[in-house]
Parts: sequence; C-alpha cells; structure tokens
Amino acid sequence: MITEDKIYLKGFRSWAEISKERLLNNVEIIYRYTKKDILAVVKADAYGHSAEKISKILEEIPYIKYLCVATAEEGKELRKAGIKKDILVLGGILPDEVKCFKEYNLVPVVSDFNQLKTVKENHIKKVHIKIDTGMHRLGFFVEDILEIINKSNGIEIEGIMSHFPSADTDPELTERQIDIFRKVVNNFRSHRIYPAFVHLQNSAGLMYDCDYCNAVRVGISIYGEKPSSFFSLPVKTVMSVKSKVITVKRLRKGETVSYGGTFRAPADMKIGIVAFGYADGLPRELSNKGYFLIKDRKVKILGNVTMDMTVVDLTDVEDVKPMDTVTIVGKDIENEIYFEDIAQMCGTIPYEIMCRISKRVKRVVV
Ligand SMILES: *Cc1c(COP(=O)(O)O)cnc(C)c1O
Repeated sequence: MITEDKIYLKGFRSWAEISKERLLNNVEIIYRYTKKDILAVVKADAYGHSAEKISKILEEIPYIKYLCVATAEEGKELRKAGIKKDILVLGGILPDEVKCFKEYNLVPVVSDFNQLKTVKENHIKKVHIKIDTGMHRLGFFVEDILEIINKSNGIEIEGIMSHFPSADTDPELTERQIDIFRKVVNNFRSHRIYPAFVHLQNSAGLMYDCDYCNAVRVGISIYGEKPSSFFSLPVKTVMSVKSKVITVKRLRKGETVSYGGTFRAPADMKIGIVAFGYADGLPRELSNKGYFLIKDRKVKILGNVTMDMTVVDLTDVEDVKPMDTVTIVGKDIENEIYFEDIAQMCGTIPYEIMCRISKRVKRVVV
C-alpha cells in the first residue's frame, strides 16, 4: 500500500493504485484455464487503468499476442508511448484513419465491404475479419464469406472473430453463436483460409467451451472484475482508487449539506470533506447513497456529490484528520469496496464506473 509520503504522490489529492501483481496473476489464471492465446483488451485507456501502464506490463508476456484498442487514435497513443506489441483496432477502419493505421502499424478488424475496400485500396496487408453471429453491431453477415474471400485476395486474413452480446445473461443465444461461428470457421477452412487467430470469447464468454477457437479477447477479467454471476475464475480487482480528507468539521442538528441541501442533520454530527467528486469519476448518483472507507470503516456520503469534493459522515469514526487516506474503490485494511458495489448502487455495470475514473486521478503502478 502507498502512503502519502511517497514522493511521486506529493501534491496529488487522488490517485489509483494499479497492482502489477494482481494484473499478472489474473492474466495467468485466464491463460491456465483457457490454454489459449490472449488478446488483451486495453481500449478506453485500459478501462480507466492507463493503457500505457497496463500495456507496458502486458507487453512482456509471451502468450499475450495482441493489445486490442477501440480506435486507431488509441493505437497511435500506445505506439507513441513505445509499445511494440501487435495492436488490433476493434472498432474497424474508416477512410480518414488509413494514414494512422499505416504510420503506426496497426491491424484493423474489418467488418463490412466498405472497410475491406478501404483496406485493399490503401494496401493494408493484414486484417482480422469480424462476422456478426448475433450482436448486430459490427460484422459481416454469415452468408458474405465467399464474397469476403474473393474480395480479399492479396490481404492476409490473420484472424477471424465474432462477439457475444449476452454471454453474461443468455447461455442459449451464446451456445447458438458458438455453433454458428464454428460453421463460419469451417467455411473459411474449406476455402483454404486458415487464420492464425480464431477468437470469439470475451470475459463472460470464458465460461463457455469454444474448442475450435485458439485465442480469447478479454478485458474486464484481466482487471479483476467478474463479468457475470457465474464467472468462476478467482480474479482480483487490479485498481484501487484513493483520495484524502481535506477538512474535518462539525454539522449542527438541522443544518444541511452541499448543493441543494439534500441532507439535513438529524442530530449534531462530525463530517469530513473528501477530495473526490464527480469530476474525478465518482457517479453523482451516489449522493446520499454511497460510502467510502476511512480507517477501514464505512463512512456514508452525505448530500450531493460535487465536482471536486464529497462530504461524508465521520460521527462514529475517531481520530480522522486532514491528509488521512480515503478508499473510494478497493481494499482498505479488511474491508473492500468493489466496482460492482458502486455499479449496483448506480444501476450500471462495473465497466462504466472504471472508465469514468478521470484523468485528474493519478495512476501509479504498485
Ligand atoms: C470490449 C471488447 C471485448 C472485451 O470484453 P470484456 O467483457 O471486457 O472481456 C472483447 N471484444 C470486443 C469486440 C470488445 O469490444
């Protein structure tokens, strides 16, 4: 754990500790379980963990074959940070992104004939082809395969892939997709296309058997969050988000707290002002609802979360003073707050809470 006297944290009010040990452990758990190559998803700044810091760690692992980003721009950022590993752009390729793909050596996922045309006209050599088996977002139709093959001569189809919309909630659809995609793969093979990477499973998809795939495309599970109620791998949360107490003061019975005065003290109270607000990524939905950990005790959020600060109830916690550490997400001493806990209070998913942790929160690898 990091204490405030760490020199690189001097002056930072909020920070996120990225546990290298937990990250490596999660990846290894997944590898041992699947025995497949891993295409590690680091889009959206590695789900808020810092794509650069996460990629620098994952780049060293031989069974991680690709880093996956959403856009060419994200790929460019990784190259500029010195990342050498192969980079797959999941969001495909648009005409005004061609230059970026070529200059930074990025591999596109191609999911329609417009994109295939762009690739061909611009002499991009290698692609992964995405087939729509039920997500109905990106992807060629199953019946397009022959035309894909005809129109991609001269281009290496290094991968073929599809995506699950509901591996966390709909096993029936998921199994059906696994069957459809098996036929797709066989169809390519019958035309002598043998891609190096066949990948379908996201994190929730790891709970299904895809014997004909040789790689998995995982994000949330490497960051340690379970993607479904039946996800059985013992991954652990990689990121802990911390902040500091700025002020401790009293609140008299009947007085209200923060904008709008939505909390009124039923009795005299002690309150703390924490340097973490919605601009740091704390959902404003947690107003009067959420809690932090201070000295391993749950402290409730009082009133509305503000842009840069949040007020908590310290009435029953002794000896809290300015500069004391506050745990927003992660482990304090014994107690832990999970992204999932916050997501449930806000009616959303842990992915969104992770991505919302803002730039102002300094990321440190511990
Ligand atoms: C984001 C994404 C993933 C990773 O999903 P997780 O649920 O985080 O494992 C995999 N494939 C595609 C196409 C994605 O967009």
